Amino acid sequence: MTVTRFAPSPNGPLHLGHAYSAIVAHDRAMRDGGEFLLRIEDIDGARSRPELAQEFRDDLDWLQLQYREVAPQSERIASYRTAANELRAMGILYPCTCTRAEVAAAAVAQGPDGPLYPSTCLRRGPVPGPDVAWRLDMEQATLLAGPLEWTDERHGVQLARPELFGDVVLWRKDAPASYHLAATLDDAADGVTHVTRGVDLFQATHIHRLIQHLLGLPVPVWHHHPVLVESDGRKLAKRRDAPALADRRRAGEDGRAVAAEVRASLSGHGLFDTGISLSDAINQLS
Ligand code: GLU
Repeated sequence: MTVTRFAPSPNGPLHLGHAYSAIVAHDRAMRDGGEFLLRIEDIDGARSRPELAQEFRDDLDWLQLQYREVAPQSERIASYRTAANELRAMGILYPCTCTRAEVAAAAVAQGPDGPLYPSTCLRRGPVPGPDVAWRLDMEQATLLAGPLEWTDERHGVQLARPELFGDVVLWRKDAPASYHLAATLDDAADGVTHVTRGVDLFQATHIHRLIQHLLGLPVPVWHHHPVLVESDGRKLAKRRDAPALADRRRAGEDGRAVAAEVRASLSGHGLFDTGISLSDAINQLS
């Protein structure tokens, strides 16, 4: 069965870009008579606003998207810890005490997510103390894994290139697991078959594919959809005050009409090359 998910982080309200992402995931599952999941990614306790989870549910209801909610990340920490221990036992995680500023100052190259870590702590040897992050020894990990591929429904078969990111942090100092470890484990635990998300996370999939291999997790198919952009070409983002769905909902706008508008823009972008037509999509709503 096709299973997709929408996995918002409750650190700001949802806007139209999220509606777009949720609708892509929902419709992709519905096309196959599958299931659409909601997973609250509240791993980052410091930034999470618990009250937003209910807003997210109300937003999906307003858009008339049927979903099944699975456990939020805050309830899954034990599974992240087990996986991190497994990787540690394989000898491919190492502790790191560097601050962001130190990493930025020492970096000689940029990766997709910012400065590439020059493996300072790996060369320095083990550091004692609880206040450490755990990084993946990318050289060892990729050597162990060998060449890997992954498939995106819209972009075809990709050769995994996790080395682009260098020694990524998988266990954080300030929050438990990193996004990469948590999301990969969750998708496997939730039985997600098609990971649908914005193309801004396309590169992250290289790391997720490697983690799946190392931990012996099932390998889904990915579906990276375009992200909505503002008139200046920048990604529509909650940080830049895109209108919140919740505000539009409270102002009495019709969520079904908003969803139909989103679907119309999706079909304009060839997004329904997975086979769903706008009229089918709208019929599913009624
Ligand atoms: N929690 C992530 C976000 O809100 C989404 C992660 C994903 O879809 O893999 O951006």
